[in-house]
Amino acid sequence: MPDKDSTVLQRPTSLKAKLNFITRFYVGDVSKLSSDDIRRVLIINLFASVGILFTFPLGIASFFQGKLMLGTVLLSTAFLYAANHLYLRRTHHHAVSGNFVIYPLYALMLYLIYTGGVNGTGHVWLFCVPAVALFLHGLKKGLIELAIFTLVLTALMFCTDNHFLEFGYHPSLKSRILFAFAVVVFLSGIYEFSMSRFNDELKRTSAKLKLVAYTDMLTNLLNRRGIYQKLEERQQAHLLLADVDFFKRINDEYGHDAGDYALEKIAQIMASGLPKGALSSRWGGEEFLLAVFDCSSHEAYQIAESIRHQVADYEFNYMDQHFRITLSFGIATMNETVSLREAITLADSHLYNAKRAGRNQTRND
Ligand code: GH3
Ligand code: MG
Ligand code: MG
Repeated sequence: MPDKDSTVLQRPTSLKAKLNFITRFYVGDVSKLSSDDIRRVLIINLFASVGILFTFPLGIASFFQGKLMLGTVLLSTAFLYAANHLYLRRTHHHAVSGNFVIYPLYALMLYLIYTGGVNGTGHVWLFCVPAVALFLHGLKKGLIELAIFTLVLTALMFCTDNHFLEFGYHPSLKSRILFAFAVVVFLSGIYEFSMSRFNDELKRTSAKLKLVAYTDMLTNLLNRRGIYQKLEERQQAHLLLADVDFFKRINDEYGHDAGDYALEKIAQIMASGLPKGALSSRWGGEEFLLAVFDCSSHEAYQIAESIRHQVADYEFNYMDQHFRITLSFGIATMNETVSLREAITLADSHLYNAKRAGRNQTRND
C-alpha cells in the first residue's frame, strides 16, 4: 500500500498529465507554438466544446418536441463547432477560427431571442456572449461588435413579432434582459480592460528584464549570455575573439574610469566596424566576442584587421589624458563539424598565440 507521503508527491505529476492530455486534445501538436498561441487555441476550443455541450442536447430535445427548425439550427451549430475544433487543432489559425465561434454565436443568440428557443428559455444564454466576444476580438473590436449586437437585439425585442408574448412573459422582462445584458457587457469590458493593461505591463517588464539579462551595461553590447544564446541558434559563424593588450597598465596609469571609458569607446568602434547582421558582445573584462556570418574566412580576417587598425589609430582622450590601445584577435569558425564551444576554445587558443607572438595582431585557423 502506498504511504501517505508518496500519494501526496504523486499528485502534481498526475495533475500535469491531465493538463497535458487536455492540451493535446484541444491543441494537438504544440511543438511549434508560442505559449500565447497555445492558450488562445485552447480557450477557443474550450468555448467551442461548451457550445457543443449545450447546443447538441438542446437540438435533440427540439427535434423530440417537433421543433424541426430550432433543432436544425442547434445541431448545425454543434456540427460547426465540432468542425471548427478539428480545423483549429490541425491549423492553429486561431484568428480565423475565433470568427467561426463568435459570429455563429451572435446569430444563434438572435435566433433564440426571436423564437424563444427550447421552452421559451433561449434568452438565458445571452449572457455568455460578452465574455466570448471580448476574449476573441479584444476590447475595442469586441465592444464595437457588442454595441451593434445590442442594437440589433433591441430592435428584435421591441420591433418584431417575437416569442415574448407567446410564452406569456411579463412585459418588463425584455427591458430587464437588455439592462442585465448591458451590465454584463460593462463588467466584462472592465475586466478585459484591466487584464489587457496588466498583460501590456507584463510584456514591457519582461522585455526590460530580457534586455538587462542579455546586455552589458557598460558598453551596451550583448553580454556573454546574450551572444551565446544568439549563436546557439546559428549553424555557421566566424568568431572573432578580441582582447585589449596590456589593459591593466591603462587602469594603473590613467585610472579605472579611464579604463571604463576606453572599453566603451572600443565597443563603439567595433560595433560600427562590423557588417550588417553581425553580432558584438563583451565576453568578459576586456575581452570582446564578435561574430560575422555569410562570409569567407578571409573576409572575417579582414574585418578583424580593419577593427584592429581602427582601434590602434584612435587616440583615446579621457580628462585630458591621451593614450593609445591595441587589440589582439583570435578567429575560429563554427560550422557543421565544429561546435560553438569548440570554436570558442579554438578562437581563444589563436588569441593566446597572437599574445605570445607580441600582441597587436590577428591569428586564425
Ligand atoms: P594582456 O595583453 O595579456 O591581455 O594584458 P592585460 O593587462 O590586458 O591582461 P590582464 O588579464 O592581466 O588584465 C586585464 C585587466 O582588465 C585587469 C582588470 O582590472 C581590467 N578590467 C576588467 N574589467 C574591467 C572593467 O570593466 N573596467 C576596467 N576599467 N578595467 C577592467
Ligand atoms: Mg583578458
Ligand atoms: Mg588583455
